[in-house]
Amino acid sequence: MTRKFINQMEPSFDENERLALNEYMLSGGWVTEFNKTRTFESMIASYTGAQYCSVVANGTVSLTIALMACGITIGDEVIVPDYTMVASPNSIELIGAKAVFVDVERDTLCMDYDMMIQSVTDKTKAIMLVSINGRYPQKLDKIIDYCRSKGLWIIEDAAQSLGSFHKGKHVGLYGDIGSFSFSAPKIITTGQGGALITDNAELIDKIRKIRDFGRERSGVDHYLIKGWNYKFTDLQAIIGIEQMKKLDERVIRKKEIGRIYESLLKNVNGVELISTDYEQVPPWFYDILVNNREELKKFLHSKGIGTREFYPPLHAEPAYGYELSFPVTEEISRKGLWLPSSSNLTDEDVHYICNCIKEFYN
Ligand SMILES: *Cc1c(COP(=O)(O)O)cnc(C)c1O
Repeated sequence: MTRKFINQMEPSFDENERLALNEYMLSGGWVTEFNKTRTFESMIASYTGAQYCSVVANGTVSLTIALMACGITIGDEVIVPDYTMVASPNSIELIGAKAVFVDVERDTLCMDYDMMIQSVTDKTKAIMLVSINGRYPQKLDKIIDYCRSKGLWIIEDAAQSLGSFHKGKHVGLYGDIGSFSFSAPKIITTGQGGALITDNAELIDKIRKIRDFGRERSGVDHYLIKGWNYKFTDLQAIIGIEQMKKLDERVIRKKEIGRIYESLLKNVNGVELISTDYEQVPPWFYDILVNNREELKKFLHSKGIGTREFYPPLHAEPAYGYELSFPVTEEISRKGLWLPSSSNLTDEDVHYICNCIKEFYN
């Protein structure tokens, strides 16, 4: 029997998306955003427990919109971890603000509190808190207290965290605005898409205007603030609604898979796990730190297993090119590997993957 290649991640759909799309097209909808988009937003608000939700074109512009809604502008500084997806700093630089990189904690791979406070200047207006794989930094409370006392906004890049909770409250709700992504590899997908959640009525009002030309309301050509067009479409919302119906089961399954990985890999010499609270967090990608990453990656590929390397230290990428040194990010970026992470992996797949890893290290 030849085994099917196990992708590191893949989106999954079934006949429910197909049927819902078909029904919509037969009903003569206008395709652009309307009632389906509002339904999708209310599903996200109710799932996360947020007062308000607004969906937008993707999980990068969502961050830019969040910054704009907080009044961040040219010359302002926003602190962001060096270890994150490049969309986090780029969303800051798009509006002419400066992304100020800081190192991350070794245990959580999230922003380092001490380094964050050392990096605050009188130009700092916000911090971008990235919940990598659904985790928060250990010193979350201190970060929040510090930002509140200094009047700094907290924008949460929670793109990887839909379904993750912290002390019973959904990730993305600890800051002022939380941002999610529905790109193809995320836990639910609409192909492209992003969402912002907040409990702040003033902020959501601005967000809704910025995404729709700054209009007083849809169809009324009176422009209260400067806005652009970052809207969603009902076609995407139809897929999103069906995906949301599957979120609970995906969250449960991702936690189960994580626990199996943990139990099978925890005693393997050469493999280091990142500690995860599986009660509350369904990690987006299963992340491990390894020796001989390149060889392991090739070996697993030869066994029909896809993996992906961690993000590089962003400060050193040509797009930024800063001569700085962030030892933790540099180390984890060199050692980090994401294992297959789709919620449709079978137990047998996970056992096979772990056996191959053990075979490599023995
Ligand atoms: C996926 C992701 C984004 C970008 O989202 P897009 O929808 O692809 O623009 C931003 N930040 C993080 C941490 C992500 O994982």
